[in-house]
Amino acid sequence: MTRAEIPNLIAGELQPARSGEWLDKVRPADGTLLCRLARSGAGDVAAAVRAARTAQPTWTERTPVERGEIVRELALLLRERRDEAAEIVVDETGKPLELALGETDAAVEMGLFVAGEGRRSYGRTTTSSMKHRTVLTTRQPLGVAALITSFNTPLPNIAWKAFPAIFCGNTAVVKPSEHVPASAFFFGELALEARVPAGVLNVVQGFGAEAGAALVEHEDVDLVSFTGSAVTGRWINETAGRRLAKVCLELGGKNALVVCDDAELANAVRWALASAFSNAGQRCAAASRIVVFDQVYDAFREQLVAGAKLLEPDPVISEAALERMLDAVSHAVSQGTKVAAGGERAAGPGFQLAPTILEGASPDDEISRAELFGPVTLLYRVSSLDDAIALVNDSPYGLTAAIHTASLHRALRFAEKAQAGVIVVNGGTHGSEPHMGFGGVKDSGTGWREAGIEALDLYSDWKIVNLIADPALT
Ligand code: NAD
Repeated sequence: MTRAEIPNLIAGELQPARSGEWLDKVRPADGTLLCRLARSGAGDVAAAVRAARTAQPTWTERTPVERGEIVRELALLLRERRDEAAEIVVDETGKPLELALGETDAAVEMGLFVAGEGRRSYGRTTTSSMKHRTVLTTRQPLGVAALITSFNTPLPNIAWKAFPAIFCGNTAVVKPSEHVPASAFFFGELALEARVPAGVLNVVQGFGAEAGAALVEHEDVDLVSFTGSAVTGRWINETAGRRLAKVCLELGGKNALVVCDDAELANAVRWALASAFSNAGQRCAAASRIVVFDQVYDAFREQLVAGAKLLEPDPVISEAALERMLDAVSHAVSQGTKVAAGGERAAGPGFQLAPTILEGASPDDEISRAELFGPVTLLYRVSSLDDAIALVNDSPYGLTAAIHTASLHRALRFAEKAQAGVIVVNGGTHGSEPHMGFGGVKDSGTGWREAGIEALDLYSDWKIVNLIADPALT
């Protein structure tokens, strides 16, 4: 059950904001009050960073194997409490329980994957131009990591960052989205139960422009790992970059799914629907552009529209988000874009937008370029693979892209030419799995990869160690 009040978790203590202020959080499913969260400011953030800094030297002294064991304990505890965790996520986001359970399991898997690194965190040994010298590489932590996350898949968003960050010997301050305070608090409490020492994983609640910005600006934060919008990410990069902090940005997408004339149409429709509308389209990897070959456009469109009309709309995160999406759609319509399905608020007490399919927009239109982060997708017509690839790449973003084709040549050419961090052939525009590095190009990120062993490169720095066995021989 979601707590009525969500305080901060600093140095293992539950603390309200120093201002004494609280923010209301409502349920997206019906607009009723769910809980209040601490409205933190710079003072709360400073206390959390101080706690993290204090805990870090002792935490780093633990061996990687020990830290891996503690990470495993946390993952296993989350697995034990998966029903409770998923219920909190359902309350906060309004998503179906099945989805929330799947996300909880994904967060657990990330923890188990990272835990295994305790006994597998390989470095390299290499040669030297000098005699009697052995050279090897080891990982070293950075210090204090700020982990700022989006609301869309609350537990995986934290797990993807917190597990590798603390495993690598850093301590962390998590600033979850103000839309999902309770799952982050739950994760922080479980960490304490799992023997993660006080101060290693702190959670500070509040608005991005207040608590989040104070964390980014804090001089004693060594690394900022951010998942959110490109506009916020750009500011974070400039601000933390000024003091040369390491910055990882996992940002938005305007992901394209291409349907060729040789595609297995039913499969393409199924994946297009799932990619565009699951989690109410609130996925960085959502297929918000569907690019279809002329020859199959009408048949594909008919099946897609029919499928979208059968979907039960899930709520988006807030009334404000819903209004922003409705405004974007009505602006596009005023510019000549046509609505093939949805386009309006769905009946019900929550913040639901009917799954929306638009067509006839120009690739230059705002609706074609801006991420809406909701259940809205656009159809485009093309006559060749080269045209499709050009359209896919005509976007500020480059996170994921998919193609449906029976041709190996087309699949490989697309994989080579589409500008994205992830390519899928004959499936959806996917997110990641715990063992696969995930991230994008262009405005979708700054080149770091989350998850996989690639995540370790973000949360640690390599150190080159030169060993000269006998000083007399140098
Ligand atoms: P957002 O940028 O509004 O907020 C993200 C987080 O940043 C929140 O915790 C927020 O409180 C905080 N924040 C806001 N302003 C801040 C500031 N000035 N300083 C510091 N922190 C600040 O984004 P959102 O609406 O929560 O999330 C949607 C975006 O996230 C979409 O663009 C989506 O594509 C992206 N996203 C990307 C990935 C990925 O892996 N690439 C995954 C999920 C979501």
